[in-house]
Amino acid sequence: MADSKKCAHPVCSCTVTSGKYCSVECEAMEKTPDIACKCGHAGCSASAAATA
Ligand SMILES: [Zn+2]
Ligand SMILES: [Zn+2]
Repeated sequence: MADSKKCAHPVCSCTVTSGKYCSVECEAMEKTPDIACKCGHAGCSASAAATA
């Protein structure tokens, strides 16, 4: 069964359905967890915060 969990990226608040990350962008940020999330998903607090 598919249990929903949070994206493995610390600043990302998206839900993951498969794998560890919600997007390839988050997977690429694995080495740089301090920068803002770039997944671009609506509802991602980290992504919204980057829009200044
Ligand atoms: Zn995100
Ligand atoms: Zn993510």
